[in-house]
Amino acid sequence: MSNVRELRDGLWMIDVEEFGVPGYGAVYLIVGDGVALVETGTSHAVPHVREGLAAAGVRPRDVRYMLVTHVHLDHAGATGHLAREFTGAQIVVHPRGAHHLAAPERLLASVRSATGENADAYGTLIPVPEGRIVAAEDDRAFSLGTRRIRAIHAPGHAPHHMCFWVEPEKWLFTGDAAGIWRRGAFAPTTPPPSFDLEHALATLHRLSGFKPREVCYTHFGLAERPGEALGSYAQFLTDWVERVGRELADVGGDEDEAVHRLIRDPEVMSWPFNERSAAGEAEMCVRGVLGYLRRAA
Ligand SMILES: [Zn+2]
Repeated sequence: MSNVRELRDGLWMIDVEEFGVPGYGAVYLIVGDGVALVETGTSHAVPHVREGLAAAGVRPRDVRYMLVTHVHLDHAGATGHLAREFTGAQIVVHPRGAHHLAAPERLLASVRSATGENADAYGTLIPVPEGRIVAAEDDRAFSLGTRRIRAIHAPGHAPHHMCFWVEPEKWLFTGDAAGIWRRGAFAPTTPPPSFDLEHALATLHRLSGFKPREVCYTHFGLAERPGEALGSYAQFLTDWVERVGRELADVGGDEDEAVHRLIRDPEVMSWPFNERSAAGEAEMCVRGVLGYLRRAA
């Protein structure tokens, strides 16, 4: 049985045990008059999502929306599979992510080349029927019973990233825009090819202005102090980019040596990356920052 919990009235979280790690990847259900999923996880999440729906007492045909923050496979990989089961659901995605869901071949090829022998853990993505994809402009609102859900464009981690804002509860679903938050600590979400510090900080600043009552992380669960969570990550992220820049300067601009040092740094490796491939994730986050620094130079 999967770990499925009702965290708040009408807010359920399914631990999809992403990459085989408990407490790393969440799929959320917003349950009321109709159901919305936030994220779908990798294709390996499908049985967990089925169990989660059953535990929450909802039927596949009750699902009205699948809201995906972005098209990285740990967030949207199961979308095509679940679209076959949730036949009444619309799939809400950033306009720049929509074509990847409808025709995922290029996305899959790039995941395979980026993840190498780890590719199996990321699963697959089958095409999502184009007619059910809603490419949401910034601030587009969707109604779910008495709730309103707004899609907020949130670039930084990736240009096609969105967050979701739910009223009246003031729940904010951050995807990868506000870092990884596990075991009371942050890890960065700064992968290649398009992590951008300025965009990420502007996004965090904008989201702080919403004054969320709950910050719901995909990795993983609810913030302990939602009032401070976004500002704290903005500081963490700023420090992280500075740190990578310093390391790069120390090794005379040798990027591979900077990566080598940082993924052996005890502090960096104490951060809550997924336990199965922490060094690989840390390396991705260093390389994403290096790419940003190169573009910014
Ligand atoms: Zn991502």
